[in-house]
Amino acid sequence: MNPQLNVLVIDDESNICEGIKRALRPHGFIVDSAASGQAGLQKIQAGGFGLVLLDVMMPDISGIDLIPAIHQIDPDVICIIITGYATVELAIRAIKQGAYHFLTKPFSVDELTLAVNQGIEHQRLSLESKRLQAAEAEARRLADEKTRLEELDKAKKLFFRLMTHELQAPLAAIQSYLQLMQEEYLTPEQHKDALQKCIVRLDEEKKLIGDLMELGRLQAIGPVPELAPVWLDEILRGVVDELTSQAGQKNLHIIVEIQEQLPAVNGSPKLFKSLWENLLGNAIKYTLPGGTVTASLRMENDQVVGQVQDTGIGIPAEEQGRLFSEFFRARNAKALGLRGTGLGLVIVKRIVDGAGGTIRVESEEGQGTRFTFTLPLPASEGTPPVNPQSIETQP
Ligand code: ADP
Repeated sequence: MNPQLNVLVIDDESNICEGIKRALRPHGFIVDSAASGQAGLQKIQAGGFGLVLLDVMMPDISGIDLIPAIHQIDPDVICIIITGYATVELAIRAIKQGAYHFLTKPFSVDELTLAVNQGIEHQRLSLESKRLQAAEAEARRLADEKTRLEELDKAKKLFFRLMTHELQAPLAAIQSYLQLMQEEYLTPEQHKDALQKCIVRLDEEKKLIGDLMELGRLQAIGPVPELAPVWLDEILRGVVDELTSQAGQKNLHIIVEIQEQLPAVNGSPKLFKSLWENLLGNAIKYTLPGGTVTASLRMENDQVVGQVQDTGIGIPAEEQGRLFSEFFRARNAKALGLRGTGLGLVIVKRIVDGAGGTIRVESEEGQGTRFTFTLPLPASEGTPPVNPQSIETQP
């Protein structure tokens, strides 16, 4: 049954209700009636009406004031006001409340059927337009999704092309050294140097495979890794201890500044260790002998803020936008012969994103670099604070 053909008359005068039923039924309408506003609302709540004819003067509520309540139940119901006391003010008020039409008693059968048919047609068009809008929105959503998937596919292809290139480069170098040795192009003294170069390139390959595996694991874990309270300051101190001798070889000054009573954040200790290792490892690698590396942790606006700052080679301004892309290596780092995989910062970004945090970089070529990350505190209260102290080490 087409609900559009279901009409409800809300009027306390039974002769009006009967008259409307007699007038509309021959035109295929199914007409029901209610003698009060409340009774009418109950029938609309039960559903199935396309159009309502409302009397203005009823004992419990004015038909005009009933319109918003009807539209709250079903915004598509067409409301036509019927009244014996038509004034311009009343008509304006009715339209403002959402009435579609205004019929003045007494009205002829033709006037009634014309108003009802126009109302039904208006409703059909407005439902059709809503359906079209929804279909257009869905088409736009699908087009956006298609673009997103195409971009993802492009990024995946580029990643595999770069990965293949990066994996092949050290192997090709090792192969040519071994060939030179096999074909006796090198003197016995040069053998030692060639073998040392092979070892360096093998280390590079191992590091690259390790980073690729970590990246793969991060992708598999998704945004929420093992959730446990983690004290970032403890992890930071452990990583500084591990990297102290590396920094000492370059005569770097390492400073660690940790605010007291820092609360724990949620996450995986292994991932946060990798975060500090990558940021501090880079700061040490890209700072020239005699420079300073500062790592700090503090609370700011209900977030834990971590920072790694160095007085190193910096990152060229025009290249900073690509810093967190796979296999990116800045030209000044490459020019100095400083080796790397270009994956460390991608790993760092995934770890921070996964923990719901943010990361940003400030850097000036030749002056130094500062990475700042923020991590949110767990939603629930009660994580025990630790008792950190500031330490300063000079390796
Ligand atoms: P990797 O260091 O292994 O090459 P990363 O993803 O960690 O890879 O870093 C990408 C690039 O960003 C580096 O090659 C280097 O050019 C630049 N970079 C990262 N950290 C620093 C830093 N602290 N100072 C200067 N350059 C940096």
